[in-house]
Amino acid sequence: MLIITPRLIEVMIAQARKEHPYETCGIIAGVEGSNKPKRLIPMQNVAQSRTFFQFDSKQQLQVWREMTARGEEPIVIYHSHTDSAAYPSREDVLYASEPQAHYVIISTTNTHSDSVRSFRIVNGTVTEERIKQVAEQEAALTMRLEMV
Ligand SMILES: [Zn+2]
Repeated sequence: MLIITPRLIEVMIAQARKEHPYETCGIIAGVEGSNKPKRLIPMQNVAQSRTFFQFDSKQQLQVWREMTARGEEPIVIYHSHTDSAAYPSREDVLYASEPQAHYVIISTTNTHSDSVRSFRIVNGTVTEERIKQVAEQEAALTMRLEMV
């Protein structure tokens, strides 16, 4: 289950709408092991494509270095589908390399307008999970309860 604030969901949708018809992409970093997405970092889709995304390698290196320095990891890795449902494509599964991350897909097509779904992708296996939207303080409480 992905526990996330409504505001972060809104920001991802806004970015996806803005970059439509190209796929948008980015990550939400959080403290390592916390499973709590906190710091949203929009990434540049160097592919400028309607069917796939590719992080800018320089930006990726810089962002990943920064996370390491701050004791963070990518909790959410998100991108949009501008012409298909919010479900991982073959390439999405192939290039998913963070087993601890929640892979969020935002669909900006008319038929699937603004649907947001979350998946775990581990060793080529896709598992959809529930997204639970909670306000900031509530999220902290839920995380504490789950750790008991
Ligand atoms: Zn995709």
